[in-house]
Amino acid sequence: MSEFSSNFDQRMRALLGENGWLKGQAELDAYGRDWLKRYGETPIGIARPGSTAEVAAVVRLAAQHGVTISPQGGNTGLNGGSVLGAGDRGIILSLARMNRLVSVDPIDFTATVEAGVVLAALHAALEEQLLCFPLHLGAEGSAQIGGLISTNAGGSHAMRYGMMQDLVLGLEVVLPDGAIWNGARALIKDNAGYQLRRLFCGAEGTLGIVTRAVLRLFPAPRGKATALLALDSLATAQTIGAFLRARAGEFVAAMEFFTEIGLALALKHVGGLTRPLETAGPVYLLVELTTSIEEMALDDILERALAACFEAGTVVDGAIAANETQRAAFWRLREEMPEGQRLEGAQIKHDVAAPVARLASFVAAASTAAEAVLPGVRINPFGHLGDGNVHFNLSPPAGQSDFAGREALLSEAIYDAAVAHDGTISAEHGLGQAKVALANRYRSATERDLMRRIKTSLDPANRMNPGKVV
Ligand SMILES: Cc1cc2nc3c(=O)[nH]c(=O)nc-3n(C[C@H](O)[C@H](O)[C@H](O)COP(=O)(O)OP(=O)(O)OC[C@H]3O[C@@H](n4cnc5c(N)ncnc54)[C@H](O)[C@@H]3O)c2cc1C
Repeated sequence: MSEFSSNFDQRMRALLGENGWLKGQAELDAYGRDWLKRYGETPIGIARPGSTAEVAAVVRLAAQHGVTISPQGGNTGLNGGSVLGAGDRGIILSLARMNRLVSVDPIDFTATVEAGVVLAALHAALEEQLLCFPLHLGAEGSAQIGGLISTNAGGSHAMRYGMMQDLVLGLEVVLPDGAIWNGARALIKDNAGYQLRRLFCGAEGTLGIVTRAVLRLFPAPRGKATALLALDSLATAQTIGAFLRARAGEFVAAMEFFTEIGLALALKHVGGLTRPLETAGPVYLLVELTTSIEEMALDDILERALAACFEAGTVVDGAIAANETQRAAFWRLREEMPEGQRLEGAQIKHDVAAPVARLASFVAAASTAAEAVLPGVRINPFGHLGDGNVHFNLSPPAGQSDFAGREALLSEAIYDAAVAHDGTISAEHGLGQAKVALANRYRSATERDLMRRIKTSLDPANRMNPGKVV
């Protein structure tokens, strides 16, 4: 061990204690690799501070020793943002020990939490108080508030409640020079200068470490009405989506879609699923209405709106969930789309978005382009019809185990189509280290320059999660 590292080690151990500075090989491996096991260099150690003051002290100590820091939450990010990049000489700073739900204010409708609070734990704690934090995603059992803020997570209810940036009122952040910015205010209106909190939403740990947040809460939904529809096309889903928004307005909480290809893969590989309707897709639309008003007859509202669609002949088949079990079964079909495809074998995932009105046109164009690159490639788009976010995922042609070396060309075709439709190459998963080169290609020089200037002004030594985002 060099003099440098033993000195750094000693000081980190003295600062954080045995439980706060981990060096065992098993721990370096566990924290050091990303969720998809695609990225991660071995870190010098894992820092697990227990307070904001300790985070600030770690940041200062790391700076003195020229060590980089990669902040880590639940490590469920899908673009390698939470682990070291090639050539980094750095540590991982895990927020896992900072997991206190500090307070819930039922008058303000806010919760103040430390960054390491796991999303599902927040949901559970709020349930008793008839309040809700309306962000939902498949990784909610592990993803932490700080990670969700730093990737500006979206999920299935973003069409109604927005993304994480819309749910954060205030933040406390440890900056790259070790200073603590306390902006953890519980204000909806606060125009005293730049909207600094928004800068850290989606910054992926490159501008500082989020240590505490004040989050917006909402009354818990007490009534839900959920329907699953089989439709002839995504264009029809788009039209019906707009019609339902016009008829059921503020009650529409989620509109999700998947296709027969994805359903068949999920039914083939995932246990406990059943075909939901007598008639097959080819496209399925899951619609959910929610309300906090117990007496509201949501089923009637949904039924009347859907009756008009059946009369117009736009719905092939459909059902409104008769009870909670059926509702959960509908949702599970949508949520098992990634798992069904994963278990089928090789896959390429793309998290892209287009404006809602151009979604069908984007999916058609991207499908044609992908088919031209690799005839027979199985195209499995699914996602959030309500906000235009598509997980445009691919499996090799039937009977083949790989993409015949065409992965890069396939991805390029899909990203080109998204951008040509005024969409984006990253809807809700961020850039991490996986998509930095892509962003360089698709973002304008002015936009890239603006981001670089922000990064350089806050972190001139480039020690905060280098190689991510910019
Ligand atoms: C099964 C599954 C389903 C998913 N579904 C969705 C979905 O529907 N919508 C969606 O948006 N995402 C989804 N994701 C992606 C992932 O869950 C989100 O990106 C989530 O926000 C990551 O949170 P995390 O705590 O795991 O962060 P991590 O993966 O640990 O970190 C993510 C990024 O944030 C940074 N970071 C973490 N904590 C902090 C902090 N306190 N301060 C500063 N920077 C920090 C890291 O450096 C990294 O760059 C899914 C992932 C999986 C595995």
